[in-house]
Amino acid sequence: MSESKFSTHTNIVTDSNSSYSRSRDSLSDSDSNSVSIVNSYTDSIKTTSEKKLSLSNDCTKEELVVCLQERDSLKIDELIQSAYRIKAESIGKKVYLRGVIEISNICTKNCYYCGIRQLNSSIERFELTDDQVIEAAKIAWESGYGSIILKAGERSSKRYQNKVSRLIKAIKEISGGMLGITLSLGEQPKEIYQEWFNAGAHRYILRIESSNPDLYAKIHPKNHHHSWDRRVQSLMELKEIGFMTGSGVMIGMPYQTISDLADDLLFMKNIGIHMVGMGPYLKHPDTPMGKLITENQTLDLSLKMVALLRHMMPKINIAATTSMQLIDPFGRERAVLAGANIIMPNITPSVIKSKNHYLEKLPQVKDDASESKTKLENSLARMGIEIGWNEWGDSKAFTQGG
Ligand code: SF4
Repeated sequence: MSESKFSTHTNIVTDSNSSYSRSRDSLSDSDSNSVSIVNSYTDSIKTTSEKKLSLSNDCTKEELVVCLQERDSLKIDELIQSAYRIKAESIGKKVYLRGVIEISNICTKNCYYCGIRQLNSSIERFELTDDQVIEAAKIAWESGYGSIILKAGERSSKRYQNKVSRLIKAIKEISGGMLGITLSLGEQPKEIYQEWFNAGAHRYILRIESSNPDLYAKIHPKNHHHSWDRRVQSLMELKEIGFMTGSGVMIGMPYQTISDLADDLLFMKNIGIHMVGMGPYLKHPDTPMGKLITENQTLDLSLKMVALLRHMMPKINIAATTSMQLIDPFGRERAVLAGANIIMPNITPSVIKSKNHYLEKLPQVKDDASESKTKLENSLARMGIEIGWNEWGDSKAFTQGG
């Protein structure tokens, strides 16, 4: 992807990283250097207060870059409030829940930023039994969560694929077909996507992480197993099959520029995505990227990304991601006020959460389904936001088009 004229002024990576980038094309598993990377979003971008923050119907890249650079709090508030108004007018004010069940943290891939990458030997691996998954789904169903997400690292053994098919059918059966099922299980052959769709899953999330193939290549090992093209192809296959299809990106990661983020928003629009989950990049200490020093103050930037995407795609579902909640206890609620309409409480059995990667050990995500439900309900009620209990809350961009 070619360099934009904006990237000169908006590169999140500083000069010190640029020299690193010149000398090193990407990370590797043997990388042990600590490299100082500072997010120049907070340090070096001049305020654009002299300009009016405006968006045309088409939301050009130039406009997106200006908005992402904006530091004037009044203008940012205005952007966020108008995104909320657009959401209310297009799809209503309700928030819908997806109970996340992590069925396994075993993965065959080695993405440089991910705590459950195959080469990370410092975590205990788990795979829930069928009974554990079905029990968690039952609790979600009885608690009024209209949908669940079955999430796991990427694996493609026949045994595992059959297990997922079996689980989808069983969960549909215990809820009389009423519990919506979203899958987040990585790249799979098209026939497996079809098999899972036929079994009863109707949404699939496959994060692209970055719409820039060059950046994608920097944050993944260079081999056919970690291919940007294959990832995009999978998104297209999921849409062809009829899945309500979701994707997402990380915000504020090393090497990323404001230009990249503007392109990420345009990518979502261009491929006609139905659901998006975008959140701040959080570094994991046991990963090659986690050794790079970054500034984690990216929540405001993430909120602007949510607000801008809501302007661009009024009817899609946008998630208030867990990573926002990890940076700010009210991060999810702030995302809802910026235009998000989906919240994904983690309802994986507590005994398993403690075995999972370090994020799951943080207090905000330790709650079980009922604690999660009560806290969330109270918090959203204080903001006057209603939860769509027992509703699927499907993306209107999918059900109505547009
Ligand atoms: S990001 Fe996904 S595919 Fe990559 S290592 Fe983590 S779980 Fe596996």
